[in-house]
Amino acid sequence: MTVDMWKKVPVREQDPKVRATNFNEVCLGYNKEEAEAEAQRCLNCKNPFCVQGCPVSINIPAFIQKVKEGDVPGAYEIISQSSALPAVCGRVCPQESQCEGKCVRGMRGEAVSIGKLERYVADTAREMGIKPAVTAEKKGKKVAVIGSGPAGLTCAGDLARMGYDVTIFEALHKAGGVLVYGIPEFRLPKDAVVEKEIENVKALGVKIETDVVIGKSVTIDSLMKDEGYEAVFIGSGAGLPRFMHIPGEQAMGVFSANEYLTRSNLMKAFREDSRTPIMRAKKTVVVGGGNVAMDAARTALRLGSEVHIVYRRSEEELPARKEEVEHAKQEGIIFDLLTNPVEIHADENGWVKGITCIRMELGEPDASGRRSPIPVEGSEFYIECDAVIMSLGTSPNPLISSTTEGLDINRRKCIVADEENGQTSKQGVFAGGDAVTGAATVILAMGAGKAAAKGIDEYLSNL
Ligand SMILES: Cc1cc2nc3c(=O)[nH]c(=O)nc-3n(C[C@H](O)[C@H](O)[C@H](O)COP(=O)(O)OP(=O)(O)OC[C@H]3O[C@@H](n4cnc5c(N)ncnc54)[C@H](O)[C@@H]3O)c2cc1C
Repeated sequence: MTVDMWKKVPVREQDPKVRATNFNEVCLGYNKEEAEAEAQRCLNCKNPFCVQGCPVSINIPAFIQKVKEGDVPGAYEIISQSSALPAVCGRVCPQESQCEGKCVRGMRGEAVSIGKLERYVADTAREMGIKPAVTAEKKGKKVAVIGSGPAGLTCAGDLARMGYDVTIFEALHKAGGVLVYGIPEFRLPKDAVVEKEIENVKALGVKIETDVVIGKSVTIDSLMKDEGYEAVFIGSGAGLPRFMHIPGEQAMGVFSANEYLTRSNLMKAFREDSRTPIMRAKKTVVVGGGNVAMDAARTALRLGSEVHIVYRRSEEELPARKEEVEHAKQEGIIFDLLTNPVEIHADENGWVKGITCIRMELGEPDASGRRSPIPVEGSEFYIECDAVIMSLGTSPNPLISSTTEGLDINRRKCIVADEENGQTSKQGVFAGGDAVTGAATVILAMGAGKAAAKGIDEYLSNL
């Protein structure tokens, strides 16, 4: 295979017309020949900026070197020293703004396709039956982890490797956090990928107890006082959806993206044999422009709906990953940009029948640095639709903070924790991921889980 050193080896994908009608994975990944060809493009820099761009500091040039040599087990060993979820990260990380955003190759041509190579290594290692190595001697100390999303899984995996006796408590009936209830099957297969990486974490000795809501069935204080846990990590995410509080938002057929996606992903409502119902609308308006909005829109499309994304800024400000926006467009999602909803209308039975929107223009940059949208007077218009999905961001659920004595939260209801080691205001309690930052990314949550694992080890070693 000839390699153009300036361009990525293209990755195979399902045809947009075909994939818009199914829930199978969109991206098909590299095969051996393609991966080894792409690996040739890595310059193996002495001072690798890509590693600085990775929140879990994977030794990227070293694993790519192993791919070049055809040594997948070697590449996997290098990655798994830093990441418990490489097949997940290879699929959903915003590489363009992290490792690949710093790649020296990318200064004049296209960056090395680090994410696709990571995915290739993780998938191939899984097919070969390779598991991460377990090493540590047992320390005889118990640590509780709340939440089984990327932050909790990473923290638990790292602590287990250090020899701690770790139990994850998860509110839902399935482990994985957003990886199982939020991100759709067509971007991140559940049984084939997420489940397998969780099994690898369990293989390190981590126990997972599902259907345990901390703050209801048991509190952090009782875990520490009565059940012998010497430290706790809170990785409970930010699962509480926001709404616009506009007239008509109570109508039937208005959903939060979280509810809609949970029905489809966790409860498999997209399958004909599922007992969980989901609305199969004729025309859906999705409000918002992030990854979650793209996922909700592409799910609605696959369930047979015409889909409009309504976003108040322009394409340039869309917070979703570029790749996701491109995929959504290819599949036929219609983008109504510089547009904001002002009222939702219901029919005589209380079901959504349409939405009034207003055109926006961009003014001066706001606190986030993005130009702020301003309504254009008199520009209201009506979109007929039978479903509206609100995807306006989420915040942490206050259940844990309100049931734990001495745990400080900030104005945004996020738990206050030290960035370096996850220490909260309460002794022995650490936190990280979306519960601390608000809705962010998988890899940042993993980075926080790693930092907290180190912090917990230091704390327990000095007890
Ligand atoms: C639809 C969607 C798409 C996304 N797409 C991307 C993407 O493409 N790339 C990317 O990098 N990021 C993406 N994100 C963001 C990313 O998934 C999150 O930033 C990440 O999952 C946060 O990890 P976490 O471990 O902090 O929390 P979560 O993944 O939210 O996990 C928290 C877990 O804690 C559990 N929990 C909560 N409260 C309790 C309690 N009281 N007791 C016990 N358990 C509890 C929850 O049930 C959940 O399982 C997306 C998010 C969503 C919603």
